[in-house]
Amino acid sequence: MPYYDLKCADCEQEFNAKASMDERSAQAIRCPACGSFRLETVFRKVNVVKSRGDLPGSCPVDGGGCSGGCCGLAR
Ligand SMILES: [Zn+2]
Repeated sequence: MPYYDLKCADCEQEFNAKASMDERSAQAIRCPACGSFRLETVFRKVNVVKSRGDLPGSCPVDGGGCSGGCCGLAR
């Protein structure tokens, strides 16, 4: 099950929840601080591409192109 970084839209409490997509869409997750269902997903940018090096030719293009945007950013 994936973890989500969630932020309460009511009290702005940020917390971590483990839930399936179904539970997310069924609003089975509540804010631990105020019990609100109005939660926003917090997307944290993880730089996976950068850790592989900054070489312009290091992007795998065989799988249908660059999904991380490294092709465009490297030049
Ligand atoms: Zn809250």
